[in-house]
Amino acid sequence: MISRNPCIANIKAGYLFPEIARRRREFAAAHPDTASPEGRIISLGIGNTTEPILPHINAGLVGGAEALGSVETYSGYQDDGLLELREKISAVFYRGRFGADEVFISDGAKCDIGRLQLLFGASTPAAVQDPSYPVYVDGSVLIGAAGGWEGLGYRGVTYLPCTAENGYFPDLTKLPAGCVLYFCSPNNPTGAVASREQLAALVRAAVEKGAIIIFDAAYSEYIRDPALPRSIYEIEGACACAIEVNSFSKPAGFTGVRLGWSVVPKELKYSGGESVNADWIRVCGTIFNGASNIAQAGGLAALDDEGLGEIRKLTDFYLGNAKLIRTALRNLGITCVGGDNSPYIWAKFPGRDSWEVFSEILEKCRVLTTPGSGFGPAGQGFIRFSAFGHRADVEEACRRLAVL
Ligand code: PLP
Repeated sequence: MISRNPCIANIKAGYLFPEIARRRREFAAAHPDTASPEGRIISLGIGNTTEPILPHINAGLVGGAEALGSVETYSGYQDDGLLELREKISAVFYRGRFGADEVFISDGAKCDIGRLQLLFGASTPAAVQDPSYPVYVDGSVLIGAAGGWEGLGYRGVTYLPCTAENGYFPDLTKLPAGCVLYFCSPNNPTGAVASREQLAALVRAAVEKGAIIIFDAAYSEYIRDPALPRSIYEIEGACACAIEVNSFSKPAGFTGVRLGWSVVPKELKYSGGESVNADWIRVCGTIFNGASNIAQAGGLAALDDEGLGEIRKLTDFYLGNAKLIRTALRNLGITCVGGDNSPYIWAKFPGRDSWEVFSEILEKCRVLTTPGSGFGPAGQGFIRFSAFGHRADVEEACRRLAVL
């Protein structure tokens, strides 16, 4: 028998969302009336999309599948991604500033984050916004970047608290030298979006400390305020210190289709002067064989004028849900942020334990949420409400919340 990889044993608990699903199952088993329409559980818990892919983008997917059925249009491995899609991503999201050899098509932002972690290895410290999307910490632990659980954080992972007191933006003087900093804006879970000045300070701090930022822009298409930056590369100097990951999941409903991209600028170098872009090509070529051709055809359709119109329509829909949830919570006197340029609402329950509030909302309202403490120590006392849901369900959930 071989022994278990100790890094796996170092992961603190079950991944947050399976744990929520387990508690949901347990609750449903103990309450058979959850099978009835009145007693059913409504989920405002996870960030999974619920609405169908809109027709033009869907036609792109169908066209991609059809193309595989004919000898003239059949394609096999496409490794780094369709050239046309890489160029289109650069044109649509970055005003054409990146060459196709700096844009890498992936099967999603989460998968790319996992692969990016291989670039830095076990000895590079990691820093995260606290609270943060769990993959940054758990993925770092998996590659051995962190040695063990130390109560409030993993050794080797620095938690940078993002709280109401600091406007959900971290104290950058605490950024460790030579670290990989995971930064997500619009943020999951807080819904906060960093301003241009804040991102400029972030880039300055990264350059000063010799850090590399992995900027997760998975929710950039939810930004409605034109003053807010949608990409780290809107900030001068970012090409020398940042990688950006993004995805079609939340703007186009591709959570099950699987398509994303990463930008690794050629300007980005390690401390020894070696090219990060060249290493990324090596990592992807070794353990990744490219995104689905069908998904990429859908991605191309999503980025023409009609597709971008559909992205706007879909994100508007979810933002409409977010507004309903935010209003319902505020009417109850619950302090919350987010939901205006992001699909998440971050609600404060002062002095309460997040899992206890989670259970109370489940029991009293039959509404599933996400406990803030699952995203990091600074999430304690908060609940994340997700705007991904059918409109009728969100309306019903908002009515039920009134009993809180
Ligand atoms: N990044 C953030 C911040 C997310 O919240 C999510 C999904 O919830 C992802 C990445 C995953 O994106 P993808 O579906 O492209 O893997």
